[in-house]
Amino acid sequence: MPELPEVETVRRGLEPTMTGAKILCVEQRRTDLRFPFPPDFVSRLEGRKIVAMGRRAKYLLTDLDSGDVLIMHLGMSGSFRIEAEAVSQTPGAFHHARSKNAAHDHVVFHLSNKKMIIYNDPRRFGFMDIVPRSELAEHPLFRHVGIEPLGNELNGNFLAQKFAGKKTPLKAALLDQSLIAGLGNIYVCEALNRARLSPKRSAGTLAKKGGAATERAQLLAGVIRNVLGEAITAGGSSLRDHRQADGTLGYFQHSFRAYDREGKPCRNEGCGGIIGRIVQSGRSTFYCATCQR
Ligand SMILES: [Zn+2]
Repeated sequence: MPELPEVETVRRGLEPTMTGAKILCVEQRRTDLRFPFPPDFVSRLEGRKIVAMGRRAKYLLTDLDSGDVLIMHLGMSGSFRIEAEAVSQTPGAFHHARSKNAAHDHVVFHLSNKKMIIYNDPRRFGFMDIVPRSELAEHPLFRHVGIEPLGNELNGNFLAQKFAGKKTPLKAALLDQSLIAGLGNIYVCEALNRARLSPKRSAGTLAKKGGAATERAQLLAGVIRNVLGEAITAGGSSLRDHRQADGTLGYFQHSFRAYDREGKPCRNEGCGGIIGRIVQSGRSTFYCATCQR
């Protein structure tokens, strides 16, 4: 499953081509992906100008001049290719390789700038929907979604306030999408390792009595923003590198410090511990029991 930095990298990759362009024609090659397409999918897109390319949590939001928003989610294996004059690129930086098999090209947007945006998704867990911008905030996908982790809203006070009194393990609390949007397993593991906090400690320990933020809470909030920001920067530079090479972009190796590194040395300075793996709420947690307390 792509995480927030990957989706943001895709957004940044699509934006220069999509924003300002008109959608001339849409080839919808199936009636459904994970969910059915809206019945008027094609007619609500054709002839419309794209006025903005945004993102909320892990959803891409394409604002149209009609007041509609095209919502796109990549699911497990979705990706976009930009094609023009037999050159193709796949914006985004993914831990797993993306498919380029044309059998899995499900939607093709033909734009007025002579580019095609092609959505490919072998496993079809992705989906697309169209809703009026005025109804977006109340849409079931977004109604209960928490704050964006990249902005200033995510700070020590926010964490302390939300976690005060909670006995939930810190990792589970951070994955709660109704508090923080789009933060997933990989980057929670990374952030906790860098902040040297155990994924097993009670979330409530980040708040002082009375609900004020502890130093740990302040540190963790900053670390989360940095970890995500670095991943987006890495994704962006991979986009540029690949654009200059053969025009394709698929597998990109993130340099994780904890995630997927069971049995390897902890990279925190002066630690010397080994990254271990435990299972929390059915998902793997990678962490260093030596320095993460
Ligand atoms: Zn360590």
